Amino acid sequence: MYIDFRDERRALLFDLGDIASLPPRKLMRLSHVFVTHAHMDHFAGFDHLLRVVLGRKSEVVLFGGPEFIAQVEHKLRAYSWNVVQRYEVELTLHVHEIGSDGRRRLTRFSSRTGFTRTALEVFEFPDDVLHEETIFRVRGRFVDHGIPCLAYLIEEKARVKVDKDRLLALGLGTGSWLRELKQAIVTAAPDETPILMHWRDRQGEHAMTRTVGELRHLVLDVVPGQRIGYVTDLRYTESNVHTLAQLLTDVDLLFIESVFLAEDAAQAAKKNHLTAQQAGQIARGVRAKALVPFHFSPRYEGRETALIAQALTSWSGAASSTG
Ligand SMILES: [Zn+2]
Ligand SMILES: [Zn+2]
Repeated sequence: MYIDFRDERRALLFDLGDIASLPPRKLMRLSHVFVTHAHMDHFAGFDHLLRVVLGRKSEVVLFGGPEFIAQVEHKLRAYSWNVVQRYEVELTLHVHEIGSDGRRRLTRFSSRTGFTRTALEVFEFPDDVLHEETIFRVRGRFVDHGIPCLAYLIEEKARVKVDKDRLLALGLGTGSWLRELKQAIVTAAPDETPILMHWRDRQGEHAMTRTVGELRHLVLDVVPGQRIGYVTDLRYTESNVHTLAQLLTDVDLLFIESVFLAEDAAQAAKKNHLTAQQAGQIARGVRAKALVPFHFSPRYEGRETALIAQALTSWSGAASSTG
């Protein structure tokens, strides 16, 4: 799942499997990558990402579950780095490991030192917030997939709607200043707070400074932000269902694995995966407003629509019975 930020040259990525379909310019935008677990189909894209950003990007933050720091380190140690310290742009990987013991470990790997790791920082974290910024936060909880696997929720704090017509009428262009204005509105910054406006259009570069008070009329509305769930690789168990209810209740959009058809439920259980029907039941249970089934077993190649239909029927069918 790739989440692009409007008005910002940045994005988030959830899982790092086959990312060949993402062009380098999209990978260059990644600020944070959230890995659910280190099965190959969720982590084999690490090398590809590293190759694209090396020498061009200064940092990437990665999150993963138990053993994640060692897993990243093993990947880095698999290469020879005798010239990398000469690259003009230093790349630092900030690696967060979420333990199942309620502790987090953070270490950094820098290209300047041939990716040897820095001293480990260990800290407790009391709730499920893994990452927090002014405009959004990411939560994560462990589900059981035979191994611990992270289910994620991205939570936009508030959505500031800007009147694009008014913007154009004033001859203003969009740029990162819009993000600053939105952040100022969300954090209730005082009217005299200056916003350095900068944008580029066919006429060239433009820059000016206005205060939040002067720009406030561009804002149409402030509404509750969107919540998007990303859930993949888990068994259908009571405890997993309970964990997901705590994380995802009333989620706006839910990406959820639908690996097997219900008729192959025994196979799904054996492989620690959900059936499409179970995925739909979970989505219904958390009152997901929209559903995107994914992660289909290759055995259904050409029959993916059957998996999607089963997940959607199981989600919406029961939704209508509850009114
Ligand atoms: Zn998988
Ligand atoms: Zn897996």
